[in-house]
Amino acid sequence: MAKVEMTTIALQCTECKRKNYFIRRNKKKKYSKKLSLKKYCPHCRKRTLHKEAKT
Ligand SMILES: [Zn+2]
Repeated sequence: MAKVEMTTIALQCTECKRKNYFIRRNKKKKYSKKLSLKKYCPHCRKRTLHKEAKT
């Protein structure tokens, strides 16, 4: 079985700067683009843009 190193990154709301989501990704894969997703923010109580941030 291949061992896959995972890293955790946070998705941070661009409006209130809160980290609402945590996702795990393969460390070895290269991601050229930074993630930015429309997600529901419980603090803003609406869907806002969430950007990748360090945990
Ligand atoms: Zn927010």
